[in-house]
Amino acid sequence: MGLDDIKRRIADAEVAAGRAPGSVTLIAVSKVQPPERVETVLLNGQRVFGENYVQEAQGKWPGWRDRFDGVELHMIGPLQSNKAKQAVQLFDAIHTLDRMSLARKLAAQIRDQGRDPLLFIQVNTGDEPQKAGILADELPGFLASCRDLGLSPQGLMCIPPEDQDPVPHFRLLRDLAAQNDLPLLSMGMSADFEAAIAEGATHIRVGSAIFGQRDYG
Ligand SMILES: *Cc1c(COP(=O)(O)O)cnc(C)c1O
Repeated sequence: MGLDDIKRRIADAEVAAGRAPGSVTLIAVSKVQPPERVETVLLNGQRVFGENYVQEAQGKWPGWRDRFDGVELHMIGPLQSNKAKQAVQLFDAIHTLDRMSLARKLAAQIRDQGRDPLLFIQVNTGDEPQKAGILADELPGFLASCRDLGLSPQGLMCIPPEDQDPVPHFRLLRDLAAQNDLPLLSMGMSADFEAAIAEGATHIRVGSAIFGQRDYG
């Protein structure tokens, strides 16, 4: 457990997969964590963080950004369309582009604010009715519509079904990205990031293995 241990495991997984050292970006998922845990990780040099809730991130990160140079914030949670403005102001990357209404709101904000966040399309690889994301079949059409709006998504993101082997989902996401010429893959969490790296993840989202269990109190 802890940041150094995770960084070592990432480096080992990169080597095992025959991938270049440093080719995987670690997103430290700090949602709901006590501030002192996040500060410890900042003091240890981590600069890329993931958050799930716009409001929570707005409360925490402006202060840390004043104190620590080079912070990069990734939105990894479901994004309500009425939060698109704040999300574009705050985040350097959005992993959860999952519907046309949100694409339209983001396109307008990106234009108005002159910002250029990295965009990932969330894919519902398990075809789960309760889960957000574009279905695999609908991805080419959705991507074309995003591009018509002036958006340039660079990657795909998935959250595999909890009760299944994640590897087939990672492979599906990798194949979809290759078919659609998208270079980035956001996949892998605390329990399965090494498997995700073996399948080509460029961005892994690791929370509890760095910070400890989240207490939703
Ligand atoms: C919370 C969360 C994570 C981190 O989960 P851990 O199991 O704590 O590593 C990663 N991705 C998403 C989308 C999340 O919501």
